[in-house]
Amino acid sequence: MTEGFSTPTADVIVIGGGLIGCSIALRLAQAKLRVCVLDRGEPGAEASSAAAGMLAPQGETVDPDAFFELCAASRDLYPHYVAEIEELSGQDVGYRRDGALLVAIDDAECGALQRIYEAQSRQGLPIERLAPAEMHRRVPGLSPEIRDSSFVPGDHWLDNERLCDAVIAACRRLGVEIRPRHAVIRLNLQSGRVQDIDAMTAIGPTGKIKLSASHFVLAAGCWSGALAEPLGIKLPVQPCRGQMMEFDSPAELPLVVRAGHHYLVPRPGRRVLAGTTAEYVGFDKAVTAEGLRSILEGVERIAPFVKGLKFRRAWSGLRPDTADHLPILGHGEIVNLFLATGHFRNGILLLPQRYSARPHHGGDRRRLNFKRH
Ligand SMILES: Cc1cc2nc3c(=O)[nH]c(=O)nc-3n(C[C@H](O)[C@H](O)[C@H](O)COP(=O)(O)OP(=O)(O)OC[C@H]3O[C@@H](n4cnc5c(N)ncnc54)[C@H](O)[C@@H]3O)c2cc1C
Repeated sequence: MTEGFSTPTADVIVIGGGLIGCSIALRLAQAKLRVCVLDRGEPGAEASSAAAGMLAPQGETVDPDAFFELCAASRDLYPHYVAEIEELSGQDVGYRRDGALLVAIDDAECGALQRIYEAQSRQGLPIERLAPAEMHRRVPGLSPEIRDSSFVPGDHWLDNERLCDAVIAACRRLGVEIRPRHAVIRLNLQSGRVQDIDAMTAIGPTGKIKLSASHFVLAAGCWSGALAEPLGIKLPVQPCRGQMMEFDSPAELPLVVRAGHHYLVPRPGRRVLAGTTAEYVGFDKAVTAEGLRSILEGVERIAPFVKGLKFRRAWSGLRPDTADHLPILGHGEIVNLFLATGHFRNGILLLPQRYSARPHHGGDRRRLNFKRH
């Protein structure tokens, strides 16, 4: 093992190359900052690629609240965000705006769906109750047992694996330095600011390196808490495992179909995702027989045609959950350390940030006192 010191690396070091870290890096690079993203594995390979890719403010909410407003605002930014990412990367991310179908079979589900319908229509949100014949026309092959269904035109979806590739490609094109297999092991404080970080690299002459910058972003998903703790910052972030399955389908599934935690999500190329579980089992990413069985039972109940689909693969990912299930964003007492974690079930939805070139050129840089090294 070698130990070395590298020269100051960038204006901003982003710790964690998931979609949250990379999308922040992209905006910083657009603001003409030198940005370096460190990931202990392959960027995008954790929760960000494990997700289902639903952009579903309404499907994730019963009674819309302030967090719903944030989610809906993100959803509204998505068309522009996708166009921008696709143009920068030259890659199609499979973005679809066909809406989602919420269905209910048993009494509890019917009650929950009724509450969603009433609360959301009271607030003037677009949600449409469907007669059974209309539901079966929109999505052929659903169970005749379904007793209630509502169509939500504003819930969209995309292929988040493609989005990972595209955002990373866009970052690289804008000059972001992305370093895979660089595990940050410690953030070092001096005079109340993060001075530099220690990282272990598995690339080149492997070993411990020190990297410095003016500002740091901690976006290490459900692993963020362990990095913040030695700084005296208690981040209530914990992993929530979600298992997923993917099938080939003879015909395109036209819409997302959801019943509680269980859902089917279309993917480009006649593929269908089936999810999911919500398990608090630490950092264990195992795919289990029990998890897959519960997903299959859940989706076959609403869509019996799943029984005949050809299995492709199964995986799991760790959602960064928090005590109140809300993301942790911004800085605390350490003013040059920005936190961006805890996006739980909505990290894909919450990606887009508004970017306007004008205020960032000069103005923000001076205010934040970014130094070029
Ligand atoms: C099964 C499942 C389904 C989901 N479905 C949806 C959905 O439909 N819609 C939606 O909006 N959201 C969904 N989510 C949630 C979404 O995936 C997450 O909220 C989001 O991906 C979090 O992104 P992130 O970048 O914070 O975390 P991650 O993607 O986990 O990235 C964190 C990165 O930090 C790196 N890292 C960790 N420790 C270190 C270290 N010490 N040094 C350097 N790097 C480090 C990791 O290697 C990783 O690449 C789902 C999640 C799961 C698991």
